[in-house]
Amino acid sequence: MVTLNLKEIFEKYDVFENRYLIPPEDISLPAEVGEIRSPVEVLLRIEKDKEGYNVSLKMVGSVELECSRCLGLFEKDLSQERKKHIEYYPREEHLSLSPEDLDVSFMEEPDVIVLEDLVREEILLSVPMKPLCRPDCSGVYHAVIFEEEKEHHTDPRFAILKDLLTG
Ligand SMILES: [Zn+2]
Repeated sequence: MVTLNLKEIFEKYDVFENRYLIPPEDISLPAEVGEIRSPVEVLLRIEKDKEGYNVSLKMVGSVELECSRCLGLFEKDLSQERKKHIEYYPREEHLSLSPEDLDVSFMEEPDVIVLEDLVREEILLSVPMKPLCRPDCSGVYHAVIFEEEKEHHTDPRFAILKDLLTG
């Protein structure tokens, strides 16, 4: 796990930038969401501001998802750049969230973040509720019919059988 103590880092630097290769088992994406089969490359850039930290997370990788219609597996590209703000947990009286707060993450303990948690969060945000292998996927029923039709046309035994039955 990559744990970053931002307080310590920003005593030495004004901007923090680093590249990581995160193995799938460290991201530990819930199995029902999808499966990550190869390491995800992350370019992390952090700048401090008054309320917390501005974080830019550039990811390169992919996740294997199950199509919600035909149940086939397909790869979804995760390559993207996300910007977000990391701050302390809000006090009770500030708990009214605005749309911009969707891009806000909170620190578990003062100024410490776990990179894998951030990456998992971003992957969860980019996986659709009902993934589709392609926009016009016609689903299981049509897939089965198509397979049967193909078999009838290509398997010579069906032709012989048909001749026997009709002849
Ligand atoms: Zn599909």
